[in-house]
Amino acid sequence: MLKRPAFHVDMQACTGCRTCVMACIDRNDLPEGILYRRVVEYSGGTCSRNADGTFAQDVFAYHLSIACNHCQNPICVRSCPTGAMRKDEHGIVSVDAKLCVGCRYCEWGCPYCAPQFDAKAGRMTKCDLCRDLLEQGQPPACVSACPNRALHFGEYEDLASMFGEFEVVAPLPDRAITQPNLLVTPARNARPSGSRSGCIRAAAHPGTPRNDTT
Ligand code: SF4
Ligand code: SF4
Repeated sequence: MLKRPAFHVDMQACTGCRTCVMACIDRNDLPEGILYRRVVEYSGGTCSRNADGTFAQDVFAYHLSIACNHCQNPICVRSCPTGAMRKDEHGIVSVDAKLCVGCRYCEWGCPYCAPQFDAKAGRMTKCDLCRDLLEQGQPPACVSACPNRALHFGEYEDLASMFGEFEVVAPLPDRAITQPNLLVTPARNARPSGSRSGCIRAAAHPGTPRNDTT
């Protein structure tokens, strides 16, 4: 098991096919409406006609695959009034079903909308990094499933030296909020975190990372 497990997302390799999302749904047998991993499309820009009749445009669009980042400073854990949400010695943030009262405070606190409420069970659920696979020395199901090898998983420091530590991009929130264990290789046309130049489209689920929804 790792000490500081992290995901790396190569946005230049991601085509937005959502195979990672389907692998997660399948692996966790998720009911309709609950997604531990999502792929959002962020797009924007304008198109205008020049005086000579030609067109000028600065449109852009890119995909971002996102799940729980098992943050170093997990707001979800601090938001939970019962101690059900915990970060364990392996760096995995998970919810104890026996202690969860379904108040959803963790969901409201998380800027990535990672905790998912199971209305039928009346409690929160979330990504646990496919803990059983990790114990067998395998990566989470989403990582193995990606046909473009856009997702990677490992120790944060190893991934950082392999892929570099870039600034996060829109629509992700400022890293300082939760210190996510997420490394991103930005899309070539990526806008900086906090940018309002685009909006989220084709979200697979209403629970998209927030800070930019115009
Ligand atoms: S499976 Fe890979 S390419 Fe497809 S959406 Fe997920 S990260 Fe992107
Ligand atoms: S992404 Fe959200 S749910 Fe996951 S550890 Fe960070 S604050 Fe908690």
